[in-house]
Amino acid sequence: MVTHIPGTGNKLFLTFDDGPTPEITKRVLAFLSQYNAKATFFCTGKNVAANPHLFQEIEKAGHLTGNHGYNHLNGWTTKKNVYAEDCHKAVQFIPNRIFRPPFGKITPAQYSLLKKDFTIYLWTALSWDFHSMVSPELCLKRATKHLYPGSILVFHDTIKASAKLMYTLPRLLESGLSKGYQFEILPLNTKNDRKGSAEHESS
Ligand SMILES: [Zn+2]
Repeated sequence: MVTHIPGTGNKLFLTFDDGPTPEITKRVLAFLSQYNAKATFFCTGKNVAANPHLFQEIEKAGHLTGNHGYNHLNGWTTKKNVYAEDCHKAVQFIPNRIFRPPFGKITPAQYSLLKKDFTIYLWTALSWDFHSMVSPELCLKRATKHLYPGSILVFHDTIKASAKLMYTLPRLLESGLSKGYQFEILPLNTKNDRKGSAEHESS
């Protein structure tokens, strides 16, 4: 499973999980556009089904979309076939063959079932933007600490995380750009990728 992208020079990889969410995702897109940054959105099939126009907006803006399951299942408490079916169900809504396990919880058996069809992405660091005990300042501090080449950072374009996200995102983008970093989409590695062999492909 991929937790960082080595050998990519000054590139950083922001990821937004659990959307798209009305109001929130649009604000994230506006910040990214303002700073000329690209990012990857691991959407749930359920949320894309409910907000297809938002999904289109993410794609139109040149960001990458990835699969985060249809129902955001916890792999540790879900049978492997049910888990794989849920992931494949989401492909109808999110065709790119990159997958991030919800909660980062996936069993070895589930991983074996999915790895032939998907590149499976975890992360370098969580911002903890979803956590009620983490302040916006701490969220920014945690994210900034992980600004180094090839880092994959996790945020959430959700209502729960929004106060922290809206505080952290512009400041992090500002800080990353001032240090000479570029914010890019994750590489698509598999043959089945809808977007084919992009310049970001690493294998
Ligand atoms: Zn999630």
